[in-house]
Amino acid sequence: MMKLRLATPAHVIDIDPLARELGYIELTGDTADGTPELRIGAMTRHRELLESRLLAEQLTIFSDAERVIADPVVRNRGTIGGALCQADPSEDLTAVCAAVGARMVIRGLDATRVLAMPEFHLGPYRTAVGPAEMLVEIRIALSGRLGSAYEKVDRRAGDWAVAAAGAALQIAAGRIERAGIALAAVGSDIASTEAEQLLAGERPSDALLSAAARTAAEHTRPVTDQRGSAEYKRHVAGVLAERALRRALSRALGEPA
Ligand SMILES: Cc1cc2nc3c(=O)[nH]c(=O)nc-3n(C[C@H](O)[C@H](O)[C@H](O)COP(=O)(O)OP(=O)(O)OC[C@H]3O[C@@H](n4cnc5c(N)ncnc54)[C@H](O)[C@@H]3O)c2cc1C
Repeated sequence: MMKLRLATPAHVIDIDPLARELGYIELTGDTADGTPELRIGAMTRHRELLESRLLAEQLTIFSDAERVIADPVVRNRGTIGGALCQADPSEDLTAVCAAVGARMVIRGLDATRVLAMPEFHLGPYRTAVGPAEMLVEIRIALSGRLGSAYEKVDRRAGDWAVAAAGAALQIAAGRIERAGIALAAVGSDIASTEAEQLLAGERPSDALLSAAARTAAEHTRPVTDQRGSAEYKRHVAGVLAERALRRALSRALGEPA
């Protein structure tokens, strides 16, 4: 935030020493209903997300996204918690976490809260984290055959997105049990609910995935700026959403993606 001149605080608290406690990626079955869950400490760095075999195998969307986030210098220092709390509208991990239905663990002085992404991410640069609270963990349930993917177009390597799309599909008995679609940088809501509803419960097909991607693009509200016209961004968002959905489906089915 300070490097981007978005914040000039009077006081800065160094939370870096907490990285030892809050830097981890682990799989646990220790949940209330026994569903396996992936837990990521909020101070896990982009580089660790990029290099994680666990994420590459279980939630490939993270590996896809991390390959195109910033540059090695930023990835060596930046954390998933910082990225989610900055809540930049072009931020990639917010779309990733929305697509996979992540839950955010927020710790305060007296209590811990667990929020779903739509309750956590309140809009550009706004989250539900209060002044005396910290995001400490990100949790993602891993049930059934889950495939996920992330697609991004940027003007040059490591830049913020012109448009980006994340998709996650959970398949059971040949049908889409849960669909997650989230777009970045195109002024849409945190998740493309209308497109997700179109997919849920249906048998996946090319036509269905195309229709869902079109619906997701129709619900964007991009602005014309130095990264492109609103019309161009909406078009790119639709193309990327369709690509992400196709790759997510292939991965869920164990096919080459
Ligand atoms: C040149 C550059 C290019 C970038 N390109 C991309 C890109 O392509 N895609 C992308 O997604 N991101 C990009 N980023 C963002 C980057 O990836 C970092 O993730 C982001 O800046 C957060 O960094 P940080 O962890 O150091 O958090 P900070 O910058 O230190 O913090 C960000 C905000 O979150 C708060 N905060 C941090 N951690 C917590 C926590 N655990 N709980 C509560 N509040 C917290 C801080 O107080 C601050 O307000 C880029 C950044 C730079 C500087």
